[in-house]
Amino acid sequence: MLSKNVSISRALLAQSFYRLLSTQTGSKLKGKVALITGGASGIGNATAAKFINKGAKVVIANIQHQLGQHTAKELGTNATFVACDVTKESDISNAVDFTVSKYNQLDIMYNNAGVPCKTPPSIVDLDLAVFDKIMDINVRGVMAGIKHASRVMIPRQTGSILCTASVTGLMGGLAQHTYSVSKSAVIGIVKSVAAELCKYGIRVNCISPFAIPTKFVMDEMSQIFPGVDDRRLVEMVTNAGVLEGTSCEPNDVANAALYLVSDDAKYVSGHNLVLDGGFTSFKHLGFPAPDEVQ
Ligand code: NAD
Repeated sequence: MLSKNVSISRALLAQSFYRLLSTQTGSKLKGKVALITGGASGIGNATAAKFINKGAKVVIANIQHQLGQHTAKELGTNATFVACDVTKESDISNAVDFTVSKYNQLDIMYNNAGVPCKTPPSIVDLDLAVFDKIMDINVRGVMAGIKHASRVMIPRQTGSILCTASVTGLMGGLAQHTYSVSKSAVIGIVKSVAAELCKYGIRVNCISPFAIPTKFVMDEMSQIFPGVDDRRLVEMVTNAGVLEGTSCEPNDVANAALYLVSDDAKYVSGHNLVLDGGFTSFKHLGFPAPDEVQ
């Protein structure tokens, strides 16, 4: 119970920080209505704050009821919480119907909910029951979100669908097989569905972020490195990138999301926006600089 409370406090602290980072207001999304799965924390929460600051009304769909309600309250009157487990198609369907009945429309569906995978790294030890569970959330949940958003977007002949993939879906060796495969599937889903929905004027895109020390990653890191303190773990995650002087943050994803769902990206569809400081674009041999070699 104590560790659960500590986890919630940690998540709430991070949320306030990310909210502060997205205080620039504007009207890019004025009149738009967005539904964000996994919107109670991390990337989803930063994006919800960003969308609201740009004029949207946001419904946060999350499996964590207490945190979701708290986040919606913190975000103000333009945010609402709806309980939703993305593995249950009826929950997704209800979340879409709830949004439409509250705001009369759904312009933006952000399928962002996802979980890490805690199985051993070798394929030989792959736990297929865990594999199924992760696929249920990270892949089937995304498919269900797109299905039900399309149901209400197609008749209106407009809409923007966004998903959170990952650099681990682009490149081998960055995460355990199950998680990597689930994120590769998200990139594939986006391309496949974009091919159909283009004829209705609906755009479908995804974002592939690099590692960010959200609760999701911190929980995984503390399992891999037991006993190492949080500050050191955050440092390890933020130093893992290649772009000097900066690191990937939830607000970077929120900015990319804002671009992709707004009219600035009106001709962008089937795209995977890779947010990795160049990490997956080139090889990192790790040789010392020539002047360091005697
Ligand atoms: P997070 O843990 O803060 O957010 C994940 C959210 O999804 C949580 O609010 C959680 O309650 C929710 N969720 C989990 N299972 C759910 C379910 N069955 N139904 C509804 N909601 C559910 O972590 P985050 O980093 O913000 O993760 C958001 C997305 O970003 C995930 O899809 C993750 O795979 C992806 N991602 C994260 C990173 C990273 O390094 N943090 C990098 C690339 C991609």
